[in-house]
Amino acid sequence: MFGNLFEEDDEGFSPAPSGGKVAKGKDAEPPPLRGNIRLSGIKNQGGTCYLNSLLQTLLFTPEFREELFRLGPEELGCLADKDKPEAKVRVIPLELQKLFVQMLLVDQQTASTTSLTDSFGWTSSEESSQQDVQELNRILFSALESSLVGTSGSNLIHRLYHGTVINQIVCKDCGNISERQEDFLDLTVSVRGVCGLEEALWNMFVEEELFEGNNLYRCSQCNCLVRAAKSAKLRKLPPFLTVSLLRFNFDFTKCERYKETGRYSFPQTISLKPFCEQTERPDSEFTYELFSVIIHKGGCYGGHYHVYINDIDHLGHWEAPDEESKPKVQKKEVKVCEPVLEKEDPLSVLIAILSQEEAKSVLVDQLGQKLMDKIGISWNKKFRKQYGPIGKFLQNHSDVFMLLANGTRVTLKAASPAPGPEPSPTSPSADPSPHQPGKTWNRSLQTVPTGST
Ligand SMILES: [Zn+2]
Repeated sequence: MFGNLFEEDDEGFSPAPSGGKVAKGKDAEPPPLRGNIRLSGIKNQGGTCYLNSLLQTLLFTPEFREELFRLGPEELGCLADKDKPEAKVRVIPLELQKLFVQMLLVDQQTASTTSLTDSFGWTSSEESSQQDVQELNRILFSALESSLVGTSGSNLIHRLYHGTVINQIVCKDCGNISERQEDFLDLTVSVRGVCGLEEALWNMFVEEELFEGNNLYRCSQCNCLVRAAKSAKLRKLPPFLTVSLLRFNFDFTKCERYKETGRYSFPQTISLKPFCEQTERPDSEFTYELFSVIIHKGGCYGGHYHVYINDIDHLGHWEAPDEESKPKVQKKEVKVCEPVLEKEDPLSVLIAILSQEEAKSVLVDQLGQKLMDKIGISWNKKFRKQYGPIGKFLQNHSDVFMLLANGTRVTLKAASPAPGPEPSPTSPSADPSPHQPGKTWNRSLQTVPTGST
């Protein structure tokens, strides 16, 4: 049914720059070093980007990681003994530990998941034709849970991710309440016809569905058809809430699968209080911060998963993506000692020209030629339409330029800013949303835009 949904386009893992120490090579050679990003990617086994996105999220969830590492060999056994018939070795959590250790400590750009997926018993065709990421989340969690039965980690998944929903039908005649509780490890919410997460939750947990007219409800107390109201509320909130967006749907009239591609908003923090059964606890117990977002890019029969994660523990050293990805061609055009020129910004170009002028001032008449030499296109072609004549531009920026000799020469004012790009912003993780170390769990919200039918 999913076709080749997880077939890769050409945007698999792209290696991080590694300070020029990249060892090009085949599998036999050691993998390249990480460089200053300090983070490890996960090798794509062919269509396993959804698995990799999920594993990265788990690695970056401190509570999950710490709970996993708390399990020692006395409980899990030892991988070296896994082929000994009498040894009780819990291969899945051990392989996950091993993978996380590699990703945290081994100086290589990518780690391999082959032995982890082997521990699930996946064949290579299953790897490339897996279910979507929500399905995989469940498979991974249930495999981990069953492999931890009888250890102190047996309720690890339950403790971190389990919540309950209570469904109620209230008889309008006798007031009898019929209840059904549902467990969840992730909440599936609709995308169709709603503009965002809050609206979807509102529809699920605030709106009541009425049984009336031709659509009555049979009350067990009254023993007849009655008017009734059906509603659902969150009863138990998990420390970590995973929300799965139902982007993938099936059109039964056209008999084909489709993807909802409409805009869907979700906030950085959300209070689930309006959607809960019990609301008398402190507000902080209902508040979740957005922590990880797994994105599916592409259509419903192909594409690529990638993930944005809040690096709460500052494991990585982040750089603005445009610092790395600026076309190298542009850098070559510029002399080595020179900062990268922002060619689209006339102010930046003129400052660059004037700051390199030995005489410190330039004839305004010659400025046009110097600009042409610098960026390969004239002022009139490039900037005049938007910024007016060059002389006018200089006058309009009298905070930067000083006109001398009756306006025939121009120089930079002493305190004018240096040319070049903005200083690189500090890492996004340098300013993370508050982690509330006092709390046992950082209530976090993961949004997984996917879904299965
Ligand atoms: Zn009744």
